[in-house]
Amino acid sequence: MKKLLFGVIALGMLAACNTTEETANLTEDTNARTATASRKSCPSEEIRAELLKNDAKARARFAAIEAGTEKFIQAKKLGRVLADGTVEIPVVVNLLYRTTAENLSDARIAEQIAVLNKDFGATNSDVNKIPAEFASVAAGDTKVRFRLVKTVRKSTTVRSWKTNDAMKKASTKGIDATDPTQYFNIWVVGDMGSILGYATFPESAGQWNDGVVLASKYTGVTGATAPYNLGRTATHEVGHYLNLRHIWGDATCGNDFVADTPTQTSSNGGSPTYPLYNTCGGVQRSVMFMNYMDYVYDSAMYMFSAGQRDRMQAVVAAGGARAGLRNL
Ligand SMILES: [Zn+2]
Repeated sequence: MKKLLFGVIALGMLAACNTTEETANLTEDTNARTATASRKSCPSEEIRAELLKNDAKARARFAAIEAGTEKFIQAKKLGRVLADGTVEIPVVVNLLYRTTAENLSDARIAEQIAVLNKDFGATNSDVNKIPAEFASVAAGDTKVRFRLVKTVRKSTTVRSWKTNDAMKKASTKGIDATDPTQYFNIWVVGDMGSILGYATFPESAGQWNDGVVLASKYTGVTGATAPYNLGRTATHEVGHYLNLRHIWGDATCGNDFVADTPTQTSSNGGSPTYPLYNTCGGVQRSVMFMNYMDYVYDSAMYMFSAGQRDRMQAVVAAGGARAGLRNL
């Protein structure tokens, strides 16, 4: 179930994913603030499924990206590794604030970028918590880094934002992206109800709405809201931006297109105790709930896998879907 699938097969799977349990996990009313916000409210794949259903060109881009990813991974196996080392992605933070608390300080934004650099470099302070069982498939340094280029601030009267991308356009009270073909745009908004954040995948590379959206209270560390107060909503969403799927494949015992992440029945939340076993297809496995692409608390996630690293490197490699990020 973990091998790569392409074209019609992959699209069929996506459609199938969208009809399974994850639909039920969606928060019906994104305005409704829940007492215990959950990463179950990250609707990136659902939004993507809608895009792919309605947009043939996006479907073609999706298929091409999967084919290119497979080609890169094959080339890497043959020893043709990235010759140019680490890719430092230029970041623009677009900050929309209504209250003083929502107007995050430069220090807090810098803190968020620092978290990304630690998590993607495997220099996070909790990296030593990776169980021995998974140490051999841990990503180590993904060779992806982030450099803040500028922060664009805008005061707003908008109280609550939805996942309709309004924050990404000046004409809908948002902020226009800074050239998304060359910059990674992050929008930080005051409130999205129970939604922590959402991302576009590489088939949206360079489009006006391309980037990651974060709720301000889950951005950065100092003053952020527990249990999502270690800056890892961004780590998770940037994973999507760099073509990672949720680790459970958004379906019961689903496929995340990564070979070294054990198949798991569904998402995990909270702080699970290791080892945690799931049975899929009659096979019991210890699952990698501490992966950034699961839904656990910030303090319970601390790794990418090597397979995930390869997928992300494929996206930012020369010729990759997001190669434009290497230009500056
Ligand atoms: Zn997600």
